[in-house]
Amino acid sequence: MAQKNKQTLTFKAEVTQLLHLIINKLYSDREIFLRELISNAADAIDKLRFSALSDEKLLEGDANFYIEIDYSPSENTLTIIDNGIGMSREEIADNLGKIAKSGTAEFLSALEKTQQSDASLIGQFGVGFYSAFMVAQRVDVFSRRAGLGEEESVHWSSEGDKKFSVSPYIQKKRGTRILLHLKEDAADFCQEWRLRQLVKKYADHLAVPVKMLTTDQEKEKATAGQLEVVNEAVALWTKAKNKITEKEYYDFYQYLTGDTTDPLAYTHHAVEGKLEYTSLLFIPRVAAFDLWQREQVFGLKLYIQRVFILDKVSEFLPPYLRFIKGILDSNDLSLNISREMLQQDAQVQAMRQALTKRVLDMLDNIVQKEPELYRQFWREYGQILKEGLADLSADRTQLLSLFRFASTHDDREEHTHSLEDYVLRMQKEQKNIYYLLAESFTLAKNSPHLEQLRAKGIEVLLLTDRIDEWVVSFIPHYNDKPFKNVGKGELEELAADSVEKSDEHNALIERLQAVLKDKIKEIRPAHRLVTSPACLVHNENDMSPALQAVMKASGKEVEVTLPILEINPNHQLIEQIGAEKDDALFAEWAWLLYEQSHLVAGIPLEDPTAYVQRANKFLMQQTTE
Ligand code: ADP
Repeated sequence: MAQKNKQTLTFKAEVTQLLHLIINKLYSDREIFLRELISNAADAIDKLRFSALSDEKLLEGDANFYIEIDYSPSENTLTIIDNGIGMSREEIADNLGKIAKSGTAEFLSALEKTQQSDASLIGQFGVGFYSAFMVAQRVDVFSRRAGLGEEESVHWSSEGDKKFSVSPYIQKKRGTRILLHLKEDAADFCQEWRLRQLVKKYADHLAVPVKMLTTDQEKEKATAGQLEVVNEAVALWTKAKNKITEKEYYDFYQYLTGDTTDPLAYTHHAVEGKLEYTSLLFIPRVAAFDLWQREQVFGLKLYIQRVFILDKVSEFLPPYLRFIKGILDSNDLSLNISREMLQQDAQVQAMRQALTKRVLDMLDNIVQKEPELYRQFWREYGQILKEGLADLSADRTQLLSLFRFASTHDDREEHTHSLEDYVLRMQKEQKNIYYLLAESFTLAKNSPHLEQLRAKGIEVLLLTDRIDEWVVSFIPHYNDKPFKNVGKGELEELAADSVEKSDEHNALIERLQAVLKDKIKEIRPAHRLVTSPACLVHNENDMSPALQAVMKASGKEVEVTLPILEINPNHQLIEQIGAEKDDALFAEWAWLLYEQSHLVAGIPLEDPTAYVQRANKFLMQQTTE
């Protein structure tokens, strides 16, 4: 039984937080509120159209969909009306009382802290309905859900503070009417010219007509006006490519995503033949904040023969392209298709393959024509694209050609080198593509593992993304050149320089071994080092310490593999240690060497205090001598 009285309710905490941000921090781009409200109205119409496919009664005999904009300069009000699905009392209290998106609270707290009104950040988040409070001091929403009786209509009202009210109402027409009592400084939003301009900008490409009262310019200030459709009312993607300007694509993107910046790139294709469909895909300039949240669903808006069917359909692109926004309009799929059916549909599989190729080709194209733009792309999405290597159906060669890395070629932190560049620069005799894994760029760049390779002018890729170790496990080779970790096993190119083991070395190694025996698998002379006394390495098939730590953290049993300590016999410190006669002092030296080689690899020490005490002892000796 519907509640008959007025109720005052409080917004969920995240709405209050969002409203606070909107009202106090967002001054620029206030006009986007109209885009958001028109977009909600169009969604409501889409929803009704879709529901009516299985229940025609909902249309109540009226399938003439429209959005109307009503304005009154004398009262300083603006009203947005739609004859879409509408909302029941429960729905309105729920939809306009909280924010459905997960991760909202974290995002908003972060935004509060930035101290700036970053419209693009909040834009990609999508402020939606609540953006009305940028321009309105009070908002009244009147709604009747399609299919419900007049007396079940509802009136929602709020001044954008902590609370809102919900009261019964009587409304003949189905759908929603949103009445904005504009703030004094927002009076231009009830001016005809301004509204016309905004509707053109934000709703031209909408398939629904947007009507408003217009004055006849010819008859100068004629009072008799009439309702006129002021947008083009043709779905953008159904137009021929050469009839659409870049600006129109950009406006459509902003409308679709709520983003306030232009997209980084887009691709629009109409495919005819066995499968008929149109796709319009965009890459946002900034990666969405929730791309890495597991519970999030990403995907395209699905239309079938121009009718909106489902949002966020993830079946049309692989997860590693989940940053793509856009629409797919199919001519072949059945209008009553469900999400479950989509997963098994052979046509959907075929489209997924084709769309994946489209996106990768678009990226190839950017690489060729706009290298600077590609850098931007890689900064935002490189880590996600790398996940593609795990996708069995992915074209690995094409994917790998899109990857970018930091390298010892220029020691710059930015990832700009392709594998192709690397191979072109390889030395004549060089067989392997060398890479180094590290937790940070500084650790990587200064790693002792690079010393001898640098001396020989052999380039090494510096891999510091968290997923890089996992990534390289999928790429044994590129262009027939094997990938080789510089921290593992023997380095072929340096084998010729291997230090011959002398008796003296053997004696030193035995002594060190006796001290470090439980911690080290083996001690051997290094061929990697020039300026450092020692470093840790692993055998070819051993798990790295970082990966061991990750496995342990995720609760997996890992067999601990001990590292190998490589020493640089020609280093002054090693010579000095070798000459130490006192066994106790020698042991201290051995531990110091062991601990130092952990530090330079970025591996935390088991007992840092012991290390500091040891080092200090030697330092003090130095000063007292
Ligand atoms: P979003 O549109 O991103 O879901 P909003 O804050 O804009 O977020 O809107 C919240 C919800 O309120 C919508 O998902 C929809 O269910 C409902 N809503 C908003 N405007 C309308 C409308 N004009 N008609 C019907 N429902 C609406």
